[in-house]
Parts: sequence; C-alpha cells; structure tokens
Amino acid sequence: KTKAFMGKPVPVVITVYKDKKFDFIIKSPPASHFIREAAKLKSGSSEPGRVVAGSITMKQAETIAKETGNAIRTQARPEANLVVEIFRYFGGLASELKGETIPLGDKVLSYTRREPYGVVGAIIPWNAPVMLGVLKIAPALCSGNTIVMKAAEDAPLGILRIAEICQKFIPNGVVNLITGTGMECGMPLSEHADIRKLSFTGSTAVGKMIMRAASERIIPVSLELGGKSPSIVYPDANEDWAVDGIIAAMRFTRQSQSCTAGSRLFLHNKIFDSFLEKLALKLDQLKIGDPLDEDVDIGAIINQKQFSKVENYIHDGLDNPDANLICGGLPPKKGPLSEGYFAIPTIFENKSNHWRLAKEEIFGPVLVAIRWDDEVEAIKMANDSHYGLAAYVWTKDLARGLNAAHAIEAGWVQINQGLGQVPGHSYGGYKQSGIGREFSLEGMLDSFTQRKNVTVNLDTPPSPLI
Ligand code: NAD
Repeated sequence: KTKAFMGKPVPVVITVYKDKKFDFIIKSPPASHFIREAAKLKSGSSEPGRVVAGSITMKQAETIAKETGNAIRTQARPEANLVVEIFRYFGGLASELKGETIPLGDKVLSYTRREPYGVVGAIIPWNAPVMLGVLKIAPALCSGNTIVMKAAEDAPLGILRIAEICQKFIPNGVVNLITGTGMECGMPLSEHADIRKLSFTGSTAVGKMIMRAASERIIPVSLELGGKSPSIVYPDANEDWAVDGIIAAMRFTRQSQSCTAGSRLFLHNKIFDSFLEKLALKLDQLKIGDPLDEDVDIGAIINQKQFSKVENYIHDGLDNPDANLICGGLPPKKGPLSEGYFAIPTIFENKSNHWRLAKEEIFGPVLVAIRWDDEVEAIKMANDSHYGLAAYVWTKDLARGLNAAHAIEAGWVQINQGLGQVPGHSYGGYKQSGIGREFSLEGMLDSFTQRKNVTVNLDTPPSPLI
C-alpha cells in the first residue's frame, strides 16, 4: 500500500517473479523478431505508436496524482501529456536507425548496421513514474529491443496502465512489466544472465549497484541518477520573471521531488535580500493540498519515509546556528495540512556550500541560498559537488550566461528558464549524476543499439553467369 495523500491508501499489486516465472518473462523471443513490429511504431494516425499515444486518456493523470501525490493541474496532467508526446516522437524515429558506409576503396564495401541488444532490463523510480517508464519503453522498442521493466514499488499503477495499453497493440513478449521491491525484484533483474542491456533511473547509490551487476557480465548500462543542481543568479536578474523561473527550476510544485531540482541558489550579494523577499512572497501564494483539487499547486510527498527525511533536513537547518530560515519550516502539526504528507516550501540562507543541506540530495522542497560576489567563486561553488545533472543561469547578459553555462559541469544547463525535459533533448548527467543519454534520437542510437560492421571484398573472381 502507498499512502500518497490525505491518509487515503492506494492499493498496489506487488508481484515477485522468481525462479522459473521470472526466467520465462526474460526469455521472450529474440528481439530481432520484433524489429518489424517496432518499426510499425511510426507516427501516422493508423500506426500503433500513434494509437498507443491516442489511448492515453486523462484517467492516466488521475492515477498519477493518486499514487504519487503530485498535483493534477501542475504535474500529473502535464506528465500524461508528455507521455503522449514521447510515444509520438519515438514512434516516428524507426527509419532513423541508419548505418554508415566506410570508404575503403572501390573493391571493398564496408558498412555498419544498427542492431538491437535484445532484452533490455529497465528499472524506474517513483517521482515521475509514467514519463520515466515510457522514456525507456519507447526508444527501446523503436530500436528493435524487447524490454522487461521493473516499476517503483511506490508508484506502479500508472505505468501498469501503460503496459495494459501496449498489450493491445504490441505483440506479447515485447513489453513486460514487473512490480516489486528493489531487493526482491530489481536486483534479480539486474543480475539476470539473459539481460543484454541495463537502463536505470534512480538514486546514485542504487545506480552503483546496477553498474556493478552490469560489470559482472560486461553489458552496457545507462544511468540517470541524482542531482544537487545549482542556480546562479546575476544582479541584473533581480526581477519577477527570474523569481518565477527559480520556483519552476526548484520544481516546488512537484514537492521538489525531481532529479533536476535547482536546489542550490547562488544569489549575487547585491540582490540577495530583495530577491529572497520576492521569492518568499511568491512561494507563500502557492496553494498546497489535495492533489486531485484543480486549484492546488503543490501536492503531497510520496510516503512517510520521504516525508520524515525532509523533516529531518529541516530540523538540521533549524538547529544550525549558521543558517537562517527565510520561509517555510517544519510541516504543519495542526489543520488540514497535518492530515497528509504536506511539506511547505522552505528556504535557508547559509554562508557555506559545504553543510549537509547544500551537499546532499534532499528530494523535497528545501532550498539553500548562498551569497556570492565573485563570478569565478560562484561557478567554483556550483561545480563543487559530486553531482552534475542540471544547472540554471539567470542573467540578461547572454555572453555572460553562455560563458557560465560552458564552465558549469552539468549535463543540461538552462539560461533564463527552469523547464522540464522535452523529447529530443540529449538529457543526462555528468559526474555521479549518470552516464548515457536516452531522451533523443542520438540517445536512442547510443543507448539502445549496437553497431555491427560488415566488410565485403568485391574483388573476388566472378562466378560464371549460368
Ligand atoms: P531508488 O534508487 O531508491 O529506486 C529506484 C528504483 O530502483 C526503484 O524501482 C527501486 O525499487 C529499485 N531498486 C532499489 N534497490 C535496488 C537494487 N538493489 N537493485 C535493483 N533495483 C533496486 O530511487 P527512488 O527513491 O525511487 O527515486 C529517487 C532518486 O531517483 C533520486 O536520487 C532522483 O534524483 C533519481 N532520479 C533521477 C532521474 C534522472 O533522470 N536522472 C529521474 C528521476 C529520479
């Protein structure tokens, strides 16, 4: 059971496939049998890819809101819409699996083919469960693989619904979804001898285990891991649009349960106080509550464990004599918001980039603000992290913004916006935020296909024409 919000339990099916049953799922027919079927996932109203996309209704958004606690208007519905876009995008890419020819002379034909790996083992987290699941299903299939995916135990319902839709249009054995815990289900999947490629989205700690499992069998692995992303605000961006951008970048309306949350705010000294004042005022206007309420901006934290973790970090901030609470604080103990896992957007000011709240991924609505005077020092602090997923730069001086973007060690830097990924982005992490890219044509080719070279000698004696 998950208890996403307001104390109403959502039933969740936990099935553990072990031994023969598990083997049976993984030993689906070889992927190459399905290349033709996958190729049918081209866009066009009569094509299966489009039909899968078209079958995703707004019921899906309701399921996402109920199981994750994410607000329907600001999060769950946009997620369902993005899922449709992802199916459409990859549905149109099957004919892009092109190879190259290598110029080795007139008497040699040397060319490459993009071939699928076979069975992809995929594991996903709970924070945007349907989008992150489809982001693996669609490119894996488009490039001719089959997939066995493990859903997150806290949010398997939305992605189960996608599997149900796929079942109507895609041959049996191509898309397989299993539910269960990481130890009982994720681990055996990552260690299974017949999995030819691992694609994992989740925490850096578990990502390391997945990489170890992959190294045992020398199979490729893509890792989309955690982050502690910096936002650097220059003095000329002390305006409302930048404040709105910081709220978006910090993913406050997803309770900041996002890998790309801009959770370290480096504000120039000149604007530090006035910017934070504007930010606190705007945050105060956001409505927190029942995720299914259309007026609500911010829903609930996913579960008790995560809620306590966030509370813990806030306690730590309150106890730190060097930290100053700007807004928010501990979750309410009275009133309607005390009935669910509701956390309030919280900002701490601190001088140091080295305390726990500025270093660790909180995965909750706790933002740390740090002053800077010297641009070089600001970029140095931004890079002083073992993570390198995303970053945000706020300035009207584009040359300055671009130079900062180039100096920041992160896989995705946005200047003057704090938006989410769209299909076509080669999105992924630097450093311990991950390896590989999946969200684009290049990502699909790199992550879900392997190149085979075929070289033919054309200088052989001709056989008689009979
Ligand atoms: P998690 O690592 O705890 O779990 C992710 C998945 O791994 C779950 O399905 C879980 O059951 C499974 N798992 C756990 N232990 C396992 C094991 N030993 N072997 C195999 N599988 C195992 O992460 P989470 O708490 O579900 O999600 C939050 C994390 O995911 C954050 O760190 C966040 O930054 C990251 N994340 C990254 C991205 C990205 O694109 N980079 C996107 C979303 C979330």
